[in-house]
Amino acid sequence: MKFLDLQTQYHRIKPNVLTNIDAIFESGQFIMGKAVEELEDKLSHYVNRKYTLTCSSGTDALLISLMALDITIGDAVFVPSFTFFATAEVVSLLGATPIFIEIEEDTFNIDCNHLNDEIKRVINENILKPRAIIPVDLFGLIANFDEIMDIAQKYDLKVIEDAAQSFGASSKDKKSCSFGHISTTSFYPTKPLACYGDGGALFTDDKELFEKMTLIRIHGQGKNRYIHQRLGLTGRLDTIQAAILLEKLKILDEEIKLRNQIANIYSDKIQNLKTPFIPENNISAYAQYSVLTANIEQRKSILEYLNHNNIPTAIYYPIPLHKQEIYKTKYQNIDLPITEATADRIFSLPMHPYLKEEEINNIIEAINKFTYGV
Ligand SMILES: *Cc1c(COP(=O)(O)O)cnc(C)c1O
Repeated sequence: MKFLDLQTQYHRIKPNVLTNIDAIFESGQFIMGKAVEELEDKLSHYVNRKYTLTCSSGTDALLISLMALDITIGDAVFVPSFTFFATAEVVSLLGATPIFIEIEEDTFNIDCNHLNDEIKRVINENILKPRAIIPVDLFGLIANFDEIMDIAQKYDLKVIEDAAQSFGASSKDKKSCSFGHISTTSFYPTKPLACYGDGGALFTDDKELFEKMTLIRIHGQGKNRYIHQRLGLTGRLDTIQAAILLEKLKILDEEIKLRNQIANIYSDKIQNLKTPFIPENNISAYAQYSVLTANIEQRKSILEYLNHNNIPTAIYYPIPLHKQEIYKTKYQNIDLPITEATADRIFSLPMHPYLKEEEINNIIEAINKFTYGV
């Protein structure tokens, strides 16, 4: 059994993928070939945004969006502490300061009460300038953007939706990557919509931001290649990856449905562990299916038990960002009890659209057998 099975999907789309890649090899258009533009059009249509810009990774998508907002030294950017490192890393790369926010106990997404309190605290301290919020749609569930956008408006902050894990999800019929001033996603192989290497995308409805991000993506180059209007990156998505994504986008909705069917079986049948909470009118992309044990000791023993029974598991994330080596001294006085308890208690079960019924049943049986015994 695999935690993530990329091969079954590949065998399904293989003839088309190989035909597309061969056409690119024959054309020699490896950089910014026509598949890139075609993908950007299809993605805009899928998420219902005016503008889409593909790029080199989810991290670069975040970096490009912060650069387009001119985030710099002295600026404060509010991020959850319970997320992948990149969400805060890009803030620090630009010399700005990440302010770590607590998560909600049930959704694992940013806690709006704590967010509001921390924005007020930073304003009152009057050292840093609050500029932006980066809510993360963790494990594929869209964050609470109704409240987040109200808070952003109140304090005049920009919002970047980190949708690296949620492409294909929706909330009240609005798709992931349609929230906030800019949305970013990742096509890293383990994400719900993935390529065969690194890739990412940015989405916005704001023409001016789109034009800035377009410049930043490729060395500040405008129409004339040798006139550099600002600093930028080698931030392109490869033509080959765009062609692969075009094939994967065709089956995404079906795959999201399959992920939800599997998640529903898990949630119905798993006993004695806390299964994911999905608020009403939300469809998660289930990048991960994560459960909570009672405490860190129970997690250790259940992971050993499942490993012994050849059931692969993973921990996202064992160490919150404010406890990471690079941040822990500076942030030693902050207290994020829910984040810390979650990092101790959480683990993820195998989740991909091609899990077999027998595998799902084995996983559930092993968990129930273990938790019944303790
Ligand atoms: C994966 C991920 C990223 C970074 O994406 P890459 O394509 O690996 O650079 C950023 N934020 C979150 C929440 C992620 O899960």
